[in-house]
Amino acid sequence: MLPWLEPSYQQLSSLHQRLQLPHALLLSGRRGLGKQQLAEAVVRLLLCQAGPAEAPCGRCKSCQLQQAGHHPDFWQDTDASERIGVDSIRQLSRFFHEHAQQGGARVAVLERVERMSEAAANALLKTLEEPPAGGYLILTSDQPALLLPTIVSRCQQWSLTVADTKVVELWWQQQGGQTLDKFFEPLLHSAPLEAWQWQQSGQLEQVRQSLLQLEQYLQGQASMQQTVQLLAKTEQLPLVLSWFVRERLAQKSNAQPQGYWQFLQRFQQWCRDEQQLLGQNKQLALTALLIELKRLNA
Ligand SMILES: [Zn+2]
Repeated sequence: MLPWLEPSYQQLSSLHQRLQLPHALLLSGRRGLGKQQLAEAVVRLLLCQAGPAEAPCGRCKSCQLQQAGHHPDFWQDTDASERIGVDSIRQLSRFFHEHAQQGGARVAVLERVERMSEAAANALLKTLEEPPAGGYLILTSDQPALLLPTIVSRCQQWSLTVADTKVVELWWQQQGGQTLDKFFEPLLHSAPLEAWQWQQSGQLEQVRQSLLQLEQYLQGQASMQQTVQLLAKTEQLPLVLSWFVRERLAQKSNAQPQGYWQFLQRFQQWCRDEQQLLGQNKQLALTALLIELKRLNA
């Protein structure tokens, strides 16, 4: 388990041992925190037939099926595109209504549920209203503010954060991460896995240039054209922008909740379009997004 998620894992494990784990969990928190890893650990706990125990036994048939990656009582959406459609939720619902093949729990994981279309969200609501016996649904979300309140209220929400930054710093050193200067401290502390991904792909310096450029643009010290040109060359631009929006504009979520929410919606739309647009259209879409960003920051 990632060390900063260990306390949450222990609490979830303890609920499981007391048979008090709710049927729907929503693990929310920044992208790059390790929500998926935590979800997978809870899945292993729930599916182990030797339990409920503090940890999965690793030896029972169920644990072995899980390790081999094809447990019949585990479902996860295989579509990683920028939209979760209603078909995925129908599959989930069918999965839940079949009988458990190993005689234990049936567990499903749906990642980054803010990607759900309206139809998908409504279909999911039905599943949440009638939870099947022995069925557990684990949702994760980077942006729980975008979810329907009726969905959030039917789940037990776990807002994950890094409680002790020293734990992350120690982990970073043990992994062999390069020494980071002050500029990257907030990134490391709030999204350690994202920082790690950028370090591994040698992109930390490029990320720094992009973030500095965005800051200068917001302060009127860099032109739109310059900014678009530089950002267009940035690899994984949606991730860089997403981090900037959260880190730099998070205070707007209190000061201008409506404006912030609308911007997040536009941003999600841009992330979906970004993969398909080419050439000039790509630049136009980025320009439109940057105009909105500046408007929100004004
Ligand atoms: Zn087991």
